[in-house]
Amino acid sequence: MVELRNVSVKYPSGVEALRDVSLTINDRDFVFVVGESGAGKSTLIKLLIREIAPTEGKIKVNGYNLNKLKQKEIPDLRRTIGFVFQDFKLINSMNVYDNVAFVLRSIDAPTKYIRKRVPYVIGLVGLKDKMYAYPNEMSGGEQQRVALARALVNDPKLIIADEPTGNLDPKTSIEIIQLLQGINDCGTTVLMVTHEHELVKRFGGRTILISDGRIILDKEI
Ligand code: ADP
Repeated sequence: MVELRNVSVKYPSGVEALRDVSLTINDRDFVFVVGESGAGKSTLIKLLIREIAPTEGKIKVNGYNLNKLKQKEIPDLRRTIGFVFQDFKLINSMNVYDNVAFVLRSIDAPTKYIRKRVPYVIGLVGLKDKMYAYPNEMSGGEQQRVALARALVNDPKLIIADEPTGNLDPKTSIEIIQLLQGINDCGTTVLMVTHEHELVKRFGGRTILISDGRIILDKEI
């Protein structure tokens, strides 16, 4: 669960990026966060992963009280969250299997578990036949699927997808959102940031509109 109560962020430059934001995202929700460039969407994500702290207000994410979180607990918080980015952020020198396995190896997961779990999540995103391909041999849509598998492999409670369709054509964008919906149907909370209003209209669902640092709409559309 994600909970923000009266949260404001003022950067040292004086910019008020978020103003008195309150919102609750329950477990298993699928939420679109939309808004123009500069509205405060990235600032919201940075708060949730404790990259920045709020100037005012209270934040809880996946059972962690971020106002009281110690520096050494930040990696624990982040392990409960999977990330998907606009530019995929895959490691080009590694094949699909290793890009996904890397996450589990970095937390010293048992080899036996890695050998079972990695092919399973690669299968979930429909890439079983590309398991040993390299990112530069794949289309943008396929690379984003790998990124989704990587986000999923550690079984996070929440997936944050930051403009995941920003580099994809409309048809592929729809496929990626459908995959995110499938992941959500299996119980993972999904927060997807996008500026593509058309896509949001097509899929519908809970939509939070941020403008000039404030939530100006939060409803099912
Ligand atoms: P979005 O992701 O919706 O484009 P941001 O959260 O990046 O919006 O930015 C919100 C506001 O905060 C903008 O006015 C932006 O210029 C400002 N801003 C973002 N990051 C910083 C920073 N590190 N220092 C100062 N101002 C920032």
